[in-house]
Amino acid sequence: MARPERSRLRGGELARLGGEHTHWDREFPRTSWFDVRELEPGVHLIGEPGHVNSFLIQGSESAVLMDTGLGVADIRAVANELTDKPLLVVNSHYHFDHSGGNKLFSEVAIHRIGAPLLAQPTPEIYAGLYMEYTQRMLEAWGPYKKVDDLYFHLITAERLVRPLPEGFDPATYRILPMTATRTLEDGDVLELGGRRLEVLHTPGHSPDCICLIDRENGLLFGGDTVNAGPVYAHLEESDHPKFASSLARLAEMRSDLRRVFVCHYLRLENEPSLLVEMADGFRRILAGDVALRDNIDCFNEPVKEACFDHFSVFVAYSKDAR
Ligand SMILES: [Zn+2]
Repeated sequence: MARPERSRLRGGELARLGGEHTHWDREFPRTSWFDVRELEPGVHLIGEPGHVNSFLIQGSESAVLMDTGLGVADIRAVANELTDKPLLVVNSHYHFDHSGGNKLFSEVAIHRIGAPLLAQPTPEIYAGLYMEYTQRMLEAWGPYKKVDDLYFHLITAERLVRPLPEGFDPATYRILPMTATRTLEDGDVLELGGRRLEVLHTPGHSPDCICLIDRENGLLFGGDTVNAGPVYAHLEESDHPKFASSLARLAEMRSDLRRVFVCHYLRLENEPSLLVEMADGFRRILAGDVALRDNIDCFNEPVKEACFDHFSVFVAYSKDAR
């Protein structure tokens, strides 16, 4: 992916994003930045709707928080309200939208490959570009919701996109290097007491991506490997053959799974059959057996997109791509 050169919004314009959406509270009441819900006993969503979903998974002895979100609000306070057990943060991978709240926690685990990536500085430009994406999404949301209310009725309470939290100044948003206190390998098992989370190393989107699987309860937490929406496979670090084999591996587990949770977009939960569809989709991409259309990613960069029934894949933009 070509690196964008500059933020298209100036600081003052970014600063306004934080405070001008109070009328939304009247039109579409949302009382906090996070959408917090129990998905099943011992499993909570701590979502930032439209941005990223984090999951608190508890056993009788300890708890895992898979990802810490953008870091624009206090996810630790939310987690502490839900559990008083010792808490280990597990990053699905090092990207800033999954690790932004790491700074609030003392125990952070990530795949071995992700530890140095988490500790390296991210080009400053991405923080500003992501806040611009936030603004574009908010601007699109009002008309989208109104049309849904008239005709389609797909938007439910948990799919309400929210204005940035009060008191948060988008102009000050920074992506900070973070330190992991523990590294993980494929096959590691996190024993939480009456619940076991197994680490699956699923490279492709980035080299350090993992999923967590709770086999006893049939739950998969897909990180950025599984998504119902555009899957980002166009990054410089993305690897299509590895992505395809990671998904083929997950697809083989489908009969052991009951619920598949993903980190992005508004379809939080998916049928395990999504894994089969994705594995097949990546096979077709590798074989060149897909049509590509133009789209843009969250950094407003042009990409090519392969579309399937329940997801799509962003691949690197190239002028001669079909
Ligand atoms: Zn990512």
